[in-house]
Amino acid sequence: MPSIDFDRVSQYIEMPRDGRSLLEQPERELRITMGLRLDHELMQSDVYVVYFNTARGPAKGGIRFWPTVTMEHTAELAEKMVWKTALVGVPFGGGKSGIRLDPADYSRMHKTAILKEFVRVIRHELVSGTYVPAPDMGTNAYDMAVIFGETHLPESVTGKPPRVGGLPGRLEATGRGLATCIRAASEKYLDSGLDRRTVGIQGFGNVGGWCAKFLHELGTKITFAADISGGIHADTGLDAHKLAQWCSEGKLLEDYPEYDHVSNDEVLTADVDILVPAAVEDVLTSENASRIKARIIVEGANGPTTPEADAILDEGGITVVPDILANSGGVIASYIEWRKAKSGSLTSRDETFETIDELILGGFHKVSDFAEQTNTSLRTAAECLSVQEVIAAMHDRGWI
Ligand code: NAD
Repeated sequence: MPSIDFDRVSQYIEMPRDGRSLLEQPERELRITMGLRLDHELMQSDVYVVYFNTARGPAKGGIRFWPTVTMEHTAELAEKMVWKTALVGVPFGGGKSGIRLDPADYSRMHKTAILKEFVRVIRHELVSGTYVPAPDMGTNAYDMAVIFGETHLPESVTGKPPRVGGLPGRLEATGRGLATCIRAASEKYLDSGLDRRTVGIQGFGNVGGWCAKFLHELGTKITFAADISGGIHADTGLDAHKLAQWCSEGKLLEDYPEYDHVSNDEVLTADVDILVPAAVEDVLTSENASRIKARIIVEGANGPTTPEADAILDEGGITVVPDILANSGGVIASYIEWRKAKSGSLTSRDETFETIDELILGGFHKVSDFAEQTNTSLRTAAECLSVQEVIAAMHDRGWI
């Protein structure tokens, strides 16, 4: 089942029956049993590769190396990529792959051997450009370098380390785009720049940490922050750079020696202007939604708000900037890296940020204008615009 409620969307856009039918299930699902002898033992794992829709371009989406991946969840994540790429206008479809293993159980050498086997089993997809992977949970830039080493095609994979054909600014990209989106939302809905606003961030990993650093540069006061261990608070503002450094060393916020220590729930329901859930899915629920005091929520994580919470927040007049727009900085950077690989050109960190800002702001204004014109939420507006774009592409391709 698609994550988007097509009945709701079709109240605002034209939704041909054939287009809807093609979007109701993934275009292609591959299930592979991968077997490999590592030292003296057989490593056997299920591998899932899903292309949800490729009308707008190659299937783009990360490789998840995780013990609980399933075909269903891989398809859900692939679907998200379809809407994300369509909304900000990068020429990709949506895909995802999952290798059902616990990365913690494997040494770097064994993981490299598994990735090489993964490339062997889906070589055709990678060298033909049908599927362009990137890092996701359990995989990283070095793993992407291994894939590049097997295909010899720099455009076959993104998220590589900069010295192996990767993009300067890729690591910061999602946090950068998120901060830009937060700035735009503050200007539009709070009628002021970020220098007079307070922000709470849940999740201080790659996305939350970099977002905090960019917000700090914009003069924003981050008064609450949380990670898996709990939260911290200071009315005078937290030092984003020091906190991000602490967390990047693998340390927990509960052990941070300064500031007041609070619970995760206190961070989510804190008295701040803007709340940024940037950790995991389903953290804003029917249980806590009515206690949220922020006036704007900008979704850094994928799917942090349950549909029940979304309805409560909407009713309470809280503006939610949806994940498919707010965290699209990463896929925009992937597009820049792919374009750079295809053309052989060089791109600087500043150019990366310039393109991310341009595409995110373009998406933000399109979505907020549509929401205003149709009197809908930003989430419904974003979904309508994405679906409309994919349906138009399927029409162009002669599929419908
Ligand atoms: P990460 O692993 O680097 O960081 C995750 C952070 O969330 C950590 O601080 C961790 O302590 C915290 N956390 C984990 N479980 C928690 C819980 N139950 N309660 C509170 N905090 C918790 O991950 P990331 O790359 O920063 O990704 C964060 C989210 O953003 C995920 O939903 C991911 O799918 C999404 N996302 C990431 C990217 C990217 O480029 N990294 C792009 C798009 C979307």
